[in-house]
Amino acid sequence: MSGRTDSARAITVIVTFFADLRRFLPRGADGPQRYMLSGNATIADLLAVIGIKPDADVTAAVDGELADRETVLHEGADVMLLSPMEGGAMDRFGYWNKILHVNLADRSTRIEEPGDAFFRRYAGGRGLIAHYLLKYVPKGADPLGPDNILVIAPGVITGAPVPGAGRHSVGAKSPLTGGFGESESGGYWGAELKRAGWDAIVFHGVSPTPVYLWINEGQVEFRDASHLWGKITGEVEDLILAELGDKLIRIAQIGPAGENLVRYACIANELNEVAGRTGMGAVMGSKRLKAIAVRGKTPVKIADQRGLLAMAKWVSGTMDEKHRAFHEFGTGAAMQGKSLEGGMPVLNYRLGAADTIAKVDAIAVRDEVRVRMGACYACSVRCKKVVHIEEREEAARAAAENVYKGRANVAFDPLGRYSVDPRYGGPEYESLAALGVNLGLDDLIAICKSNEMCNYLAMDTVSLGCTLAWAMECFEKGILTLEDTGGVPLRFRDADGVIKLVEMIAYRRGIGDLLAEGSQRAAQRLGRGSEAFLTTVKGMEMAMHDPRHMPVMRASYLLAPTGGDHMRQTSNRNGLRNQIGLCHFLAYEDDQSLQILKTVTGWDITPEEMVTTAHRGLTLARLFNLREGMSRADDRLPARFSDPLPKHAGLTRAQQDKIVTDYYVEQGWDAQTGVPTAETIRALELEADAVHAR
Ligand code: SF4
Repeated sequence: MSGRTDSARAITVIVTFFADLRRFLPRGADGPQRYMLSGNATIADLLAVIGIKPDADVTAAVDGELADRETVLHEGADVMLLSPMEGGAMDRFGYWNKILHVNLADRSTRIEEPGDAFFRRYAGGRGLIAHYLLKYVPKGADPLGPDNILVIAPGVITGAPVPGAGRHSVGAKSPLTGGFGESESGGYWGAELKRAGWDAIVFHGVSPTPVYLWINEGQVEFRDASHLWGKITGEVEDLILAELGDKLIRIAQIGPAGENLVRYACIANELNEVAGRTGMGAVMGSKRLKAIAVRGKTPVKIADQRGLLAMAKWVSGTMDEKHRAFHEFGTGAAMQGKSLEGGMPVLNYRLGAADTIAKVDAIAVRDEVRVRMGACYACSVRCKKVVHIEEREEAARAAAENVYKGRANVAFDPLGRYSVDPRYGGPEYESLAALGVNLGLDDLIAICKSNEMCNYLAMDTVSLGCTLAWAMECFEKGILTLEDTGGVPLRFRDADGVIKLVEMIAYRRGIGDLLAEGSQRAAQRLGRGSEAFLTTVKGMEMAMHDPRHMPVMRASYLLAPTGGDHMRQTSNRNGLRNQIGLCHFLAYEDDQSLQILKTVTGWDITPEEMVTTAHRGLTLARLFNLREGMSRADDRLPARFSDPLPKHAGLTRAQQDKIVTDYYVEQGWDAQTGVPTAETIRALELEADAVHAR
């Protein structure tokens, strides 16, 4: 806290800095900042305290309303400082009409300007990724070979200054499922790419040597990454920032897991945000592309800045009512309730409850290891946990004093085993469950450690945890033996064993080589009835929401184009958000999402067109999966979920079939085969894409 104060009438205001204005953040700070000012302070006074010149080209808003330099601030005022939003000068808003194609084989680039109709049709995310996969990836291509492409696709609202608009998707043919691969990430990287003037990047081919891409606004440079290859994400970030000399650069990168083609390697941005699912890090590794560094200084153009500010104001004004739990705990606050209801994945999805759950949920994280909450671009919800653990008590005390100035306690490991670096964030619900209770663990420090390792080695915590749970059940039943594992025991409830296995998998050492293939491939290789313990759909391990307990998850797992995905991408709501680049956690109603889309792009879009956009993305992904050999037989849960839990019945084949058929009909696909009908293809204007689906 800083500022000019008048002790009698001091007020505190909360200031959020957008984009380039982050350079005015106090050193080491992130997200909204508190400033103490005199009671009659104005915006001009605040700017002076921050160090911004009074005539700087900065737009200010107070409680969501535009404010001028003379606007008087009040106690608790929610101030936003933005770079100029240039509305009105051009008739294109939200996107630039610029897609960067990068050929890694010959190190050339080209710019595609596909036109406004293209962006209105695909919007971004899944729609855009599926379009390019159908167009450029030959049928049957090896996901880890030169014919696969890697697409990075924010949405048309990504980079707009409104909570939730910091998302980007990464897509390719998945090395885990052999079908449509895609994963979303938050943080700042996607917004930075948009601010650099790009709507998407499509990587083609394979680089002969390790390389990283440096995108500085419109300039694109290939840079040698030999010295970065083999390094963990934190080291790579430090080296690139030092090399390029700008601390505001944002970096998306793979870790050793991606280099070693672990089939569920992820792509990390800002070290603690990940495009986690479907093995996109392995595709990036197969292309010898270590990182993409981006710096963008051009604000995304907004059609109706007042309208957008009103949406931002709605989020901050309804925080208590709509987002308090998220703001307070992030994901994972409801784990005790889930366990009481018998729906918690425990010991490879067998039990539904754990009496140790309170030791490892988000409440325990807050009380024991968390030092603060972090945020994504433009988001006031701040739902991202940041944990800090030291091995020794003295080091923890020193960090609390020197780093946090007494504002946070720093935990230490009473067993002196592990430290956890706050740069790598903290465990979300999926990681707490997949690396914790589903492996029988109640050791919060070890769970935070394996989560940190997954971020610095860059691996998906869900697929990793589920693969370990599968292997542990095989070991428990004598299907996997010490002879198979090279003497490494694979036991539930063995926290230190999990830490060792995480590293073995990332570097494909010993039994880690088999487990790096993902549980389904490993089961196919092992045989011996081990398939019975799988928790995969279409080859991807299911997330930590048991469909026997949560009916709402059933369609998501059965029908998401990526396999065992819990994000309910199959719904119109989330399908649309994926494509436009809006976070699922924001409690916007559908008409508010529509409003955001309109205020950013200026499109005169109807609710019906919004639904059509979501259907288009899902149908394109379906076309890709069908072309790659998937069928109705792949829209099925693994055998485990036919078994009952103590408190929930198993799901019968007939129940699953009904969900699948109903969904096919809703999407306009053939009710039996799930093949999109000619009429649907026409209605969605996908004739050109469908040509590539044969
Ligand atoms: S709600 Fe959480 S995940 Fe979503 S944009 Fe905000 S901080 Fe990021």
